Amino acid sequence: EVKRSGRNGWQFYTLEMQQRSEYRHSLLMKLIKAVNEEHLESYFQPIYDLERMVIDKCEALARWQVSDGEYIPPSDFIPLAEESGLVNRIDLQIFNQAASFLKQQSDAGKDIGLSINISPRLFQTKDHALEQWLSSVLDYRKSIRITVEMTERLLTDDSIRAIKVLEDLRTKNIRIAIDDFGTGYSSLSYLVKFPVDVIKIDRSFVERIGQEKSAETLVKTIIAMAKKLDLKVIAEGIETEQQLQFLQQQGCQYGQGYYLAKPMNKHDFEKLLMNESLLS
Ligand code: C2E
Ligand code: MG
Ligand code: MG
Ligand code: MG
Repeated sequence: EVKRSGRNGWQFYTLEMQQRSEYRHSLLMKLIKAVNEEHLESYFQPIYDLERMVIDKCEALARWQVSDGEYIPPSDFIPLAEESGLVNRIDLQIFNQAASFLKQQSDAGKDIGLSINISPRLFQTKDHALEQWLSSVLDYRKSIRITVEMTERLLTDDSIRAIKVLEDLRTKNIRIAIDDFGTGYSSLSYLVKFPVDVIKIDRSFVERIGQEKSAETLVKTIIAMAKKLDLKVIAEGIETEQQLQFLQQQGCQYGQGYYLAKPMNKHDFEKLLMNESLLS
């Protein structure tokens, strides 16, 4: 049936579109169930201090396991969750899980910071998502160093509400990071205009270190500019020794990537932290 109508391009296309929208709908239904049952899990990817080569903080990353060994990647379910507004509940659940683990670590004497992702949707909905999120974040900030990561998308939206909230968070010792820096379309002017403490250099630039001079120049320039503006830099997606060395030579303070450590569940992360403190 599909193939026969496939001869007629337009009909084929609409059928494909319909199937895709049905797939997305059923995925959304499953996702709602998973969120209601708190099945999403926070993974942790260590962020290293590249000078001392010790773990300084970690990024909490959402993981959704749908069956034994089968995971749906965030690149599939986060956009879906954003469209429906469900993402705010996900962000809160992941934050709470990650923060409660890191608070335990902190109580055990390990000071590991937490970097979390938020969706611009947090500032757009009229329900209590923002209030709930803020009260949880402000509560945990007494025990852990917190950085909030968001993409340039949020800042280009020119959201007065978002900027007010972020400015207020900064006065309470919470750091603001621009995620995937360099991939958006916004100008550099927001770096001085908006409340920003940290720039995360996107993986797409880091992966071209050692391959393309132009990418290397760009990375160098971002690091130099960040220094001038008194911002910290985190390089994401470090996959090789060569990339690591290049970043260290340029004075990039922090980095994360498969070469250093992959995202892992809390048990593996706890083991890693234990080994690290044995070595030091
Ligand atoms: P992101 O915030 O830029 O997170 C970094 C992504 O790069 C993660 O993908 C991480 O697993 C991946 N990564 C880290 N090092 C390497 C490397 O060396 N090589 C490669 N190839 N990849 C590396 P992940 O976990 O699939 O997440 C994708 C995106 O989904 C995140 O990008 C973030 O934008 C979003 N996301 C994940 N969890 C959450 C969440 O709890 N809330 C929200 N709002 N967004 C989330
Ligand atoms: Mg991130
Ligand atoms: Mg990122
Ligand atoms: Mg990225």
